[in-house]
Amino acid sequence: MFYTHKKIIIITAPSGAGKTSITRYLIEKYPQLSFSISAATRAPRGAEKNGTDYYFISEAEFREHIRNNDFMEWEMVYEGKYYGTLKSEMERIWSHKQVPILDIDVKGAIHVQKQYPHNTMSIFIQPPSVDELKRRLAGRGTETDQSLAARVSKASYEISFKDHFDHVIVNDDLNKACTEAEKLVFEFLSRPA
Ligand code: ADP
Ligand code: 5GP
Repeated sequence: MFYTHKKIIIITAPSGAGKTSITRYLIEKYPQLSFSISAATRAPRGAEKNGTDYYFISEAEFREHIRNNDFMEWEMVYEGKYYGTLKSEMERIWSHKQVPILDIDVKGAIHVQKQYPHNTMSIFIQPPSVDELKRRLAGRGTETDQSLAARVSKASYEISFKDHFDHVIVNDDLNKACTEAEKLVFEFLSRPA
């Protein structure tokens, strides 16, 4: 039996560490989980869809949400690029008796943990090395030279935050990392709220 009431799962890591791959796997395994769609001011890339991958909004709209206190947390993750978790998104998922799974940066993750210390589980996904992270980001083929450099240069700083989280999974072998995450989610959902 799973307990889902007002729980939150956070997957955090530097960009390219494997958050999206692991999050997708967990959502397929557990229908109790629902991806928390963040608001973001960056442009959609590849096949990303508005309202599925992100709520893609303008910087003016983002600022309006900040003024209205609509965010549970928000960060300027990269120079001039804002990302945030809307309170309404959490409420939407909770109202379906599901558990939101947040794919957010380390600073945002720390904020959410502080606000919900008792019903949150956080997992930090660690890349085997920064060089490997760079290879994966380049291999994904989604970044410009500039956005790839920004992501790689922030990675070591982000890794320095790993001890703030409940669990650390080194994503060397993706299947192994997914299985480890699956086990942690099982234990978390099995715990009474
Ligand atoms: P993030 O969401 O953290 O930016 P992704 O899940 O998009 O990361 O992964 C970045 C890239 O690395 C993707 O192309 C993905 O297929 C690949 N990848 C993820 N995990 C591994 C792994 N263990 N070994 C090799 N490639 C991986
Ligand atoms: P990307 O541009 O690769 O989709 O995401 C860049 C970074 O922003 C990733 O580390 C991702 O986890 C983070 N991110 C995505 N949504 C949010 C959010 O709502 N809040 C915060 N703080 N970070 C986010």
